This record gives sequence, C-alpha cells and structure tokens, in this order.
Amino acid sequence: MPAYLPRNLVTGGAGFLGSHLIDRLMKKGEEVICLDNYLTGRKANIEQWVHHPNFELIRHDVTDPIKLEVDRIWHLACPASPFHYQTNPIKTAKTSFMGTYNMLGLARRVKARLLMASTSEVYGNPELHPQPETYNGCVNPTGVRACYDEGKRIAESLCFDYKRMHGSEVRIARIFNTYGPRMLPNDGRVVGNFIVQALKHKPLTIYGNGLQTRSFCYVDDLVEGLIKLMNGSHSAPVNLGNPTELTIQQLAEKIRDQINPSLKFVKMSLREDDPIQRQPDIKLAREELGWEPKINLDEGLTPTISYFRDSISP
Ligand code: NAD
Ligand code: UDP
Repeated sequence: MPAYLPRNLVTGGAGFLGSHLIDRLMKKGEEVICLDNYLTGRKANIEQWVHHPNFELIRHDVTDPIKLEVDRIWHLACPASPFHYQTNPIKTAKTSFMGTYNMLGLARRVKARLLMASTSEVYGNPELHPQPETYNGCVNPTGVRACYDEGKRIAESLCFDYKRMHGSEVRIARIFNTYGPRMLPNDGRVVGNFIVQALKHKPLTIYGNGLQTRSFCYVDDLVEGLIKLMNGSHSAPVNLGNPTELTIQQLAEKIRDQINPSLKFVKMSLREDDPIQRQPDIKLAREELGWEPKINLDEGLTPTISYFRDSISP
C-alpha cells in the first residue's frame, strides 16, 4: 500500500509564516492547498510550488465559507503587523472571528485537525513576566490593537467551544514575535523597519524610550514548533517563541552594528497600547512538544538582512 500523505490546507499560505510552513510540508512530500486573499501575502512566496502536482493555490477570503476535502487545516490567515491590522480594523476582527468560524466549520465537516495561529497579543500589556499559558492577559478591549488582540482571543474561544460541543481536534499556537526572510519590507514591524532603514543609511526609528522589550524567534524555529504542535496530542494553547528577551534599543544597536555602526537613532512617540514587556515562558512547549528554538538572534539576522538587501535593491 502506498504511504498515506496528509492533505493540508494552509490559510494565509502566501504570507510570511505560511509560505515557510508550505516549504516544509511540500519538502516532506505532503499535499498542500494554499488559500490566500493576498492582503499581505505574495504569490512570489509560493511560486516555487505552483507547478508541483502536490500543490494547489486558491484565491479566497476566509470570511466566506469554502468546501474542501482536507485532513489538516493550518489556519494562519490574518494580517499580523500592527500597521496592516490597524489599516482596516473591522476587517481584521471579521477575519479573526468569521475566518476561524468558517475554518472550524470546514474542519468539523471533514473531520480535519485544525491549528490556529494565535498570538502573544492575547496577553496584551502583561502584568506577569514572562508570560505562561495560564496567564489570562491584560488587553484593552477598546484600544487600537483590540481588533487583533480580541480577535485572536475570540478565535481561541471558538476553537474551545468547537472542541467542547463537537469534539473538534484543535491546536492553538500562541506565537511571539517572529522574523526572517519574506517579511514585507514596508509592513512596519520592527526588525524589517530597522534593517531597511540601516540598509538605506537612514537613522533607526525607536518608538518611545526604547526600553520596551520583545523576544524574537527565527522563522525556521517557529515553523518547527508549529509542526510539532500539529503532530502532537496537546490541545490547549502553547506558547511558541524565543525566550531571549531584549530591549528595542538593544535590537536597534545589534542591527546597526551588523550593517553600519555609524548610523544614528531617532526617537519617535510610542504607539498607543504598545506592550512594555514581552517574553514567552516556553516550559510547556519544551515538556509537551520537546521543542525549543535553536537559532539565536545573530544567526537569524544574517539571512534576514541578506533577504532585505535583495528585496530593496533596484
Ligand atoms: P502575514 O501578513 O505575512 O500573513 C498573513 C497571510 O494571511 C497573508 O498572506 C494574507 O494575505 C492572508 N490573509 C489575511 N487576511 C485574509 C483573509 N481574510 N482571507 C484569506 N487570507 C488572508 O503574517 P504572518 O507573520 O505570516 O502571520 C501569520 C499568522 O501568524 C497570522 O495569523 C498572525 O496573526 C500569526 N502571528 C504571527 C506573528 C509573527 O511574528 N509573524 C506573531 C504572532 C502571531
Ligand atoms: N518599534 C520601534 N521602531 C519601529 C517599529 C517598531 O521602536 O520602527 C517598536 C514598537 O514600538 C514595539 C516593538 O518595536 O515596541 C515591536 O513592534 P512590532 O510592530 O514589530 O511588533 P509588536 O508591537 O506587535 O510586538
């Protein structure tokens, strides 16, 4: 009998994380349907697979239902950068709720397992540090980030209600700041901003006093975590991120020093509701998935800088 190959649906598959995930699934010889509305994704991210017999590409918006026959749903569709998700916040909230609702409905009909890409933003501006999965968060429900933060929180609730009511198989990844090749150069996220500014010999824009912290995970590590989570049996939320925390000032210095140590910094006002500190507690991922990140920031920045250099050169 031929080996069984799972049929995967990757929503948001033309985006940053989705396209790296698709690379991994395709290289394993699995079947992949990539579904995307190209809001922040690009065909160029998955063009290497377009003519492959195991690959299919569908232009579709997850806020509309769709019927497909699949075994696994990797539900990543949603803009991720604050600039993009705040550009049309109502659509962001709709994508989180309706998109997850439609994908859970599909998963139920075809008895597929669904992994939802949630976020560290469910913790909001955390009072507990580092953040374990048991922390319920501190989110401003009416702030400018709420469309995304609350959107992901209701998406998690939906997953659990499908699990309780219908026995759906769900996996929830709480993803912390992730970076790497294929991020859009103009999406406003900090790693891309700093690298592009440095490559263009411009000052690096630090919002606020630069003492706010983040913990940055390289994309390959993150994708490995998603795969382990999907394949495993743990159905409660799991933090996926790199626990090495640094201030935004330290990040700016690191990137400046790798590209052009003579560059200056310029201080700008802090964005509304910008979380002050963020670091994942990954004890659960270590214990349940046997996963932890392996690529440190210096190693991950090298291919990321090369990618941005290529993508902004004329
Ligand atoms: P991205 O913006 O690069 O990718 C999102 C993809 O979803 C894009 O291809 C976009 O076109 C598509 N999309 C958006 N709305 C859609 C809709 N209504 N219908 C169909 N497709 C739609 O972002 P990313 O960084 O790859 O993030 C992927 C997922 O991971 C998102 O759900 C995001 O919330 C989550 N996440 C990412 C990070 C991170 O640091 N990258 C952190 C936490 C959570
Ligand atoms: N940030 C910054 N300069 C920039 C872009 C972002 O200082 O040019 C800061 C931002 O205020 C935040 C951190 O970097 O504290 C991470 O921002 P990003 O938008 O990448 O992600 P998020 O806030 O969603 O974690």
